[in-house]
Amino acid sequence: MVKFFRHIISLIIGYFTIGSNLIKKPVTVFYPEKKKEHKNLRGKISFAEGECKCIACGICKSVCPSKGTIKITTKEDEGSKKVLDELSIDLSQCIQCGNCAENCPTKTLIMTNDYEYSSTDKIDLIIRLRR
Ligand code: SF4
Ligand code: SF4
Repeated sequence: MVKFFRHIISLIIGYFTIGSNLIKKPVTVFYPEKKKEHKNLRGKISFAEGECKCIACGICKSVCPSKGTIKITTKEDEGSKKVLDELSIDLSQCIQCGNCAENCPTKTLIMTNDYEYSSTDKIDLIIRLRR
């Protein structure tokens, strides 16, 4: 008998949960027609606008857990000082952890809110910064 009442109570709770969800506003949106803006979203990694401040220190590359994603080549300037030649990031391998942006001493790398950057061509997913 106790078991029977337990089942009835479970049923009532179940129907109550369904009913309350039917009158609530949906938590999902009709993507891609509608989009939600998220603050602090870890979206596509990108380069800060303006003059290139990268000092080719290699910190971003060393803290990146997805090895091979960041490639850095250097060259020598007029004073034989090592400077950045090119920094490339393969977004198809990036897991958007944000380590590189967090640890970049010159704030060259930034995390954007952009999450719509899929492509059928892998070449489109390689972003490059040149000096
Ligand atoms: S966000 Fe993470 S995985 Fe992507 S390039 Fe930076 S450190 Fe590597
Ligand atoms: S992007 Fe930042 S962390 Fe990476 S090499 Fe340049 S200065 Fe260093």
